[in-house]
Amino acid sequence: MTKILKFGGSSLASAELLRQVAALVRAALPDAPIVVLSASGKTTDALHAAARAAERGDVAVARERASEVRTHHAELARGLFGDSMPPELAAELDLECTALERRLDGVALLRELSPRSLDAIVSAGELLSTRLFAAWLAREELDCEWFDARRVLRTDARFGSAEPDVARIRELCERELGPRVRPGRAIVTQGYIGSTAAGVTTTLGRGGSDWSAALLGAAVGASEVQIWTDVEGVYSADPRVVPAAHPIAELSFAEAAELAAFGAKVLHPATIQPAIERRIPVTVRHTARPNGRFTTIRAEAASGRPLAGLASRSPVTLLTVTSTRMLAQAGFLARLFEVFGRHGASVDLVATAEVSVSSTLEPDAPLDAIRAELEPFARVDVVPDRAIVAVVGERLKLTPGTAARVLAAAGEVHIELISMGANEINLSLVVGREDEHELVRRLHAALLETDRPTGSPAR
Ligand code: ADP
Ligand code: ASP
Ligand code: MG
Repeated sequence: MTKILKFGGSSLASAELLRQVAALVRAALPDAPIVVLSASGKTTDALHAAARAAERGDVAVARERASEVRTHHAELARGLFGDSMPPELAAELDLECTALERRLDGVALLRELSPRSLDAIVSAGELLSTRLFAAWLAREELDCEWFDARRVLRTDARFGSAEPDVARIRELCERELGPRVRPGRAIVTQGYIGSTAAGVTTTLGRGGSDWSAALLGAAVGASEVQIWTDVEGVYSADPRVVPAAHPIAELSFAEAAELAAFGAKVLHPATIQPAIERRIPVTVRHTARPNGRFTTIRAEAASGRPLAGLASRSPVTLLTVTSTRMLAQAGFLARLFEVFGRHGASVDLVATAEVSVSSTLEPDAPLDAIRAELEPFARVDVVPDRAIVAVVGERLKLTPGTAARVLAAAGEVHIELISMGANEINLSLVVGREDEHELVRRLHAALLETDRPTGSPAR
């Protein structure tokens, strides 16, 4: 059975790292690996910046960003191949970069950047990284094949955040990808990009390569999806915010999904879903420290702690609707959510009180339109620049007093809303954005630096 090995941009940022990735792929050859790559380093950011500059008509900046992308890949190639770059690789990289430059010129000329054009532009990152890496594996005499993910990763036409067609992906994988997979051989393909039924390039949204890996893993029935990155797994909190955070050895699908949805950037929030459906374990590992610690995410794993970890996300907007007349009446909440739904505003948290309902909305929700519809029958208060801090753990519901400990740990940090998720594994708090990291640090110190997994020694 095949394994998926996905490497993120940070794992592909230098020739040295690419050699390390090649060593990991070599070691995985008996497992018939499908290697899913992101764009190298910050390439996707540079491509976005180039496209935006072109849209403004700023040709100089657009060309400069595109030339950074070209130079970065030429330098990676030099770092790997020295003076003996295979001519076919040089031609492939040149073709891709030239197509990119022409697209940017077109956007600059028209000063118009449709989501479809943006996807065509940013897809260059994954196409370049996979071309380069497949050529390196071939030079290293590994049996490998470059595979265009767009042949199988079918999506709808919502450019920029396309929705995968899971059933069709499975059919296409069975036909196009399955026959190519075998022990001793690596398939190298792109994360993040897909295509519509008409063959137009789409993307799954920023950070979407994790999702691609899980979608492909589910489609081919992989035995494991490995997410290789620059940390030793999913930590008990973002290690950049909490230096004392530790990697979590075991997480359930539900815990990982909650942590990802509430801001743990190490996993794209949609990654877990395809794995859940086929019960495929997902591991998160450190590319530069393959023998270090890592996280295993599977259906029934338990972290062994009352709490698995913390995540946070900002900015969100807190919207409170107050109506003394309407609230108690049947249909009020339905009407409220119908208004949110019609305006495409997605709601994360909701808390209801006697006469008011508070919800958190994404910062780009069309607040003026929502307000205009609600104000005839309710008072609407909007507070922007809030943050959600989520406390996640399968055993949260079984551990009495957690909410009290959370509130005690928060101390004088002002909590504006508190909400227990319906699945009872997520206790979420809303605070001002300025208090987000402070609250995460306090909660981590009070709740995660003292408890040890039951029955296992302290590490
Ligand atoms: P990649 O380039 O491999 O896709 P990302 O930058 O998307 O990597 O994700 C890895 C980063 O996620 C880490 O460097 C870390 O800073 C951040 N991160 C945020 N929350 C967590 C968490 N709970 N555990 C681990 N990493 C986290
Ligand atoms: N390259 C894309 C991005 O930077 C996808 C990914 O890395 O997951 O968002
Ligand atoms: Mg990522």
